[in-house]
Order: sequence, then C-alpha cells, then structure tokens
Amino acid sequence: MSSTDPTEEFVPFTTDDYRARMARAAESAAGAGLAGVLVAPGPDLVYLTGYQPTAITERLTVLVLAAGREPVLVVPTLEAPDAAKAPGAAALTLRDWTDGKDPYALTAPLLDASGPPHGPEGAGGSRIGISDNAWAMHLLGLQKALPDTSYVSLTEALPMLRAVKDAHELARIAAAGAAADQAYGEILKVRFAGRKETDVAADLAALLLGFGHSQVDFTVVGSGPNGANPHHEAGDRVIERGDMVVLDFGGLKHGYGSDTTRTVHVGEPTDEERRVHDLVREAQQAGFEAVRPGVACQEVDRAARKVIADAGYGEHFIHRTGHGIGVTTHEPPYMIEGEELPVVPGMCFSIEPGVYLPGRFGVRIEDIVTATEDGGRRRFNNTPHEMAIVE
Ligand code: ZN
Ligand code: ZN
Ligand code: ZN
Repeated sequence: MSSTDPTEEFVPFTTDDYRARMARAAESAAGAGLAGVLVAPGPDLVYLTGYQPTAITERLTVLVLAAGREPVLVVPTLEAPDAAKAPGAAALTLRDWTDGKDPYALTAPLLDASGPPHGPEGAGGSRIGISDNAWAMHLLGLQKALPDTSYVSLTEALPMLRAVKDAHELARIAAAGAAADQAYGEILKVRFAGRKETDVAADLAALLLGFGHSQVDFTVVGSGPNGANPHHEAGDRVIERGDMVVLDFGGLKHGYGSDTTRTVHVGEPTDEERRVHDLVREAQQAGFEAVRPGVACQEVDRAARKVIADAGYGEHFIHRTGHGIGVTTHEPPYMIEGEELPVVPGMCFSIEPGVYLPGRFGVRIEDIVTATEDGGRRRFNNTPHEMAIVE
C-alpha cells in the first residue's frame, strides 16, 4: 500500500493549463457542430477556469466559448473581483453586468448565432452546448435573446471534455486514492459492534479529512440488511456481531475525487457470506482486467457482470459497474451496457460490482482505475480486497 504525506502539495494549475483546456473545449465544440458552448458554475467551469463562485445565485454567471474567439466570462459586477482572482482569469475576458441590466442581451452577441445550421433543410439556426447543471431560468432567458438557436447538453455533445486526465490530474487522483486507502486502513481499527452506522460514518469522514481531503462527499456504512440497499448512506441502526458492512466513501483532495468501497464483516462470516464476497472480488478483478485502451466502456461492465451472472446472482447486481471521476466524484463516462465510448489512456473511472440480497446483506468492492499508455491498466486504490474481519 502506497502511503502519502497528507500535507503533500502540488504545483497549481497555471493560466496556460486553463487556456489550453478552454481552447480544446472550443475546438471540440466546433468539431461537434456547435456554434458555441455556455458553461454555468459547477464542475465544467472549475475544470475550464478554476473559478468556483462562493455561492451559486440567481444572477447569471456563464463562460462563453466559441472556436476562434477569446473566451468570455459573464459575471455579476459584485462577483467580478472574485472571478478575476481565478487561476484561469488571465486567459479570458471578464464582462460584468450590474443589477437591473439584462445579462442575456449581454451574452447573446458573444455567440455566433448565424453558425452552422441544423435540422431539416438547414432550418433552425445554430446549436449551442450548455452545461447540464445550468439553471432553466438562464436557458430560457438565453433562448429568448437568441430565438434562432437550439441547445444541447454539454455532456451529451462533448462526453470527453473532462474524461481524460493529464499527468498532473492523474497525480492528484492517485493522491486522493491513497488518502482514501489510508482512511480504510484506520477504520479497520475502530469498534463496529454496538455502535451506530452514523458513528462509523463520522469516523470515516474525520479520517478522510485527516488524510488531506478538503471535502467529504459520502460515507456509506450499510450494515446487515442495510448493505443490501446500494443507496443507503448511514443511519441509526446499531451494528451487530455477524453483520456484513459495506463501507463506501470518498470526496475531494487537491480538487480531485476519491471513491472506494470495501465490505467488511463483524466477527467470523458464514460460508455463504464468504462465497458471495469471493464472487464480488472475482467480478471486480474481471472488470479490471477488461480495462485497456480502445475497449468500449460497456465491455468493462460486461466482464464484471458475467462473473456474477454465471454464478446465478445476476438479478442481485442492480446497478452499472462504474462511473467516471475527476473534479467530481461521479461523472461520465459510465461503465454500462450500451456505452460504446472507448476507454482512453488517462480516463479515470470506478469498477464497483456488487451483490445485494434483500433483507439480508450486500457486498460491493470498488476501486478507481485508469488505462495506461502502454496498453495496460492501473488501480488508484490498493488496499486488500480480501474480506477484513472487524470487531
Ligand atoms: Zn455475517
Ligand atoms: Zn463509491
Ligand atoms: Zn463509485
């Protein structure tokens, strides 16, 4: 198990890094037939500019990207000083608007609405990509200001925008993964029996923060029958001897995500519990071994699912095998049947098969992984997959 120094620092991303990301986004958008891209506050804006408003309010903040044009960040005047401090601000033009003015009228001319036509006979004006989390009221305002345009989800139009990580991003994801691994190593030492799930969840959160996370996104503690519900977070149930306990936790460290799951047992497990745990381990390994550059994401899902289905537990694996991770802990691409996007070196995602036996127990094992340039694969979580016995 690799260990990291929780105070480890990284060279911050530079203005040039953000300039390159924005240029690449604008080019990919043009390549996808979009006249431009509108990016609302959220993970896409953080990735492209490093700017995260302290609060997301009803006032319009939007980054406008179009090929061959300077990026422009439209911001409320009162937030402009903060935006100007963002690491990517020197690579864009700030346009601020004061209360009472129409921010949509300010934004509309920044887009080339006479761009490539779409639809039958070229009717319908230009298509613009907009981030998935933009507020409907802003989209409606823009539609009114640019009546001859249509809008598409940025995730759908540019699924690879944030998917492939460069070496600096991979180092951060590795550090986040190593910190989550350290948290797991420590949680095995705490008492489980007789304590509430929420108590163990609080321990996990404190450990993630102690190992350098700036933000904890989730600390799932699913004991006994609660483990059979993959959406269960942590509740008042008192953990008992004999319980299987699903531990799924993660958050952000240095701006990049961790997400790992191990399933432990309080005291000695039964033969059936061991068998199901072994099966999920085997499925996780099969999913991992399916990862290589060029393979479709759905093949990773199929490889893990086949192991569980062949053992007769197919109906108890009730979710996709994995999801992307980056500046958020859950994002595209998804390891799911029907996803034909190829795995690319630097793409980071989870492999997290599970078996859920309603009313009884659940088992899930999850690592963050990536495909490597040499045609192989790498895990960012390296704690043992064997079922740990806790007290
Ligand atoms: Zn048991
Ligand atoms: Zn997870
Ligand atoms: Zn996950």
